[in-house]
Amino acid sequence: MSESQQKKKKRQKFLEEYPYCYFCGGVNPSTTIDHVPPRACFPDGYAPDGFELPACKACNKGTKKQDQIFGFYSMVFDFDESKMSLEEHLNKMEKLRKGINNNYPEVIPDRTYPVHRVGSIITPKPAAYTFRAPPDLEDAIKVMGIKLTHALYFHETGKILIPEHKFFTSSYQPQLAETKNLTAYLASLLPNQTVGMRPNIRNYGDRFRYSWGYKEREDFFSYSAQFGHGIILLGIVCGPGIKRPDGPGPLSDASNWLSGACGAGANAEATS
Ligand SMILES: [Zn+2]
Repeated sequence: MSESQQKKKKRQKFLEEYPYCYFCGGVNPSTTIDHVPPRACFPDGYAPDGFELPACKACNKGTKKQDQIFGFYSMVFDFDESKMSLEEHLNKMEKLRKGINNNYPEVIPDRTYPVHRVGSIITPKPAAYTFRAPPDLEDAIKVMGIKLTHALYFHETGKILIPEHKFFTSSYQPQLAETKNLTAYLASLLPNQTVGMRPNIRNYGDRFRYSWGYKEREDFFSYSAQFGHGIILLGIVCGPGIKRPDGPGPLSDASNWLSGACGAGANAEATS
């Protein structure tokens, strides 16, 4: 059997094993494989294994733009000289930058930003953290929080979020001190630790890691996921009918809580 036939067979088996889309409430059949975190977050060949998700076409395609933008910035924010000197890392950054520049030029940061020196060594400077995020980046981070919440819930519990689930998701950069309370609060909810990494690239295991916790009786799930040394995404899921936690700051605001199953396929005709 050829390599492409083997791939096709593997894919078919996966979709048979997981027949419903993880992102729109389990109503649409899965016909595609989505990657969460997106492969755009990693140099080619460095994406962690095991983060394939069964998805309908609408959900998979619905976040294409955000996947690309988030991937690019997650690598930009992950300042680390040892990574920046690697050719494959620079190549991927340049590929993503070109793609974004073609499709969404307004998302590329202004000309003084170090990322424009991709191709030579980039010197990490604190000033890089003070630039104003373009609105599309804020949108991409928000969408990725929503997506990752659905994906990790599915990955760890084997179940699919439905509209009756309420969830909260947020993001921050670890350098910002005012997020300490929220971080401490989350840490208290998270008994487990998973590191997403390929065994053959142990040195790069810190590109993506997350902690999570699940209380089965309440169907209460929470996680905190970190992309390199840059962006942290976090999320809390409350099962149908349970009380939201009275956490600090944004957690106490009911308007920050969303309903599960919000992939694009939730509003689309079922596709096959
Ligand atoms: Zn879907």
